[in-house]
Amino acid sequence: MTPTGPKPGSQTALRQANLARVLALVRAGGPTTQAEIARQTGLSAASVTNLVRLLVAKGQVKVDDALVAGRRSRVVSPLGGQGLVLGIDIGRTHFCLALADLDKNVLAEVTEHNDAASSADQGLALCNLLLGRLLAEAGAKLTDIRATAACVPGPLDVASGQIGAGALLPEWTGLDLADRFEQALGLPVTIENDANLGAYGEWAWPSRRPLNGGLVYLRLATGIGSGMVLDGRLWRGMAGTAGEIGHMTLQENGRLCRCGNRGCLETMAAAPVLLGTLSAAVEHRVDLPEWIRLAKAGHTTAIRMVEETARFVGAAVANVCNLLSPEVVVLGGPVAGVGRLLLDPVREEVMRRALPAPARAVRVELARHGGRSEVYGALYLATQEALGAPDPPSRVEG
Ligand SMILES: [Zn+2]
Repeated sequence: MTPTGPKPGSQTALRQANLARVLALVRAGGPTTQAEIARQTGLSAASVTNLVRLLVAKGQVKVDDALVAGRRSRVVSPLGGQGLVLGIDIGRTHFCLALADLDKNVLAEVTEHNDAASSADQGLALCNLLLGRLLAEAGAKLTDIRATAACVPGPLDVASGQIGAGALLPEWTGLDLADRFEQALGLPVTIENDANLGAYGEWAWPSRRPLNGGLVYLRLATGIGSGMVLDGRLWRGMAGTAGEIGHMTLQENGRLCRCGNRGCLETMAAAPVLLGTLSAAVEHRVDLPEWIRLAKAGHTTAIRMVEETARFVGAAVANVCNLLSPEVVVLGGPVAGVGRLLLDPVREEVMRRALPAPARAVRVELARHGGRSEVYGALYLATQEALGAPDPPSRVEG
């Protein structure tokens, strides 16, 4: 094959490499001052000025004068160009889809109830219907979509694209999801685990929050999962299943878990457990919105279930703090919709149980996107792909 690019090591090759570095930096981090670009790349201020001028001429970035920390600065922002991205959050009982442009404006979004027992084909047909509705609302067409990412609840084999055993959508287990999505929607789709995309949404949508330490996102729902951003990248682990915090053993001889072990966090703090206890107490079937309403109104049993959930979740977060000492732990998922009633006792439990140094260093917060962390994380992942700036993998593929 005849090489067609600039000669390796030439001035042209060096400039192209530096252009790509600067572009990747502002696309990943959002608006960045020229001084910060120079600091992060190690390039001189004059070089950065020249490179930014070239990127402006190519229509890939824009430059604004702004006051940053009291100083006049040249702020470089990425320009997304043409096209849209699609994010899909497949939950056990909900589907959430969102459409955004490449400047990270959400143009349309929709959430619809899904029956957990419905087949994958029924689910995909619903997805297709919702996509049609989104496109109509945004005045767009299918060919405008440049990249799509979707998340599913449960451990995901990244290599095969299949949901593993123990997932919360039994009808979807073992399917080649990327292939099924592509057939149903007519679009290539990248598949991820829901808590991983929740972590991405909280960390990076619409722009990355600067972190000195890591971010751990807990998705508190029918199951309990987590996603971890460590050293600026999503941590998947050797098996690709890292973050299954719901199966952390908290009671050696506790209740039997769906994973086959006993006393997992999920058997004590997942939604079905707290709703089951509350339903028995009030003698009718309580769902999560009703639990949240009752707890906020001061209902004794509803409050007790918040406190119990907080105690177990707090213990798990304390373990995470001792192990990873993250900068931020985010509580997300529908159970976190109960808000400060859960957050405050979780914080107390972390202070009580974690070692003093990591307990002092961590900020425990509620998800800033509420129930949309996952779908916004999907938009982030799709945007990175559309811009040709995917995050580096957390492990080397074998
Ligand atoms: Zn388990």
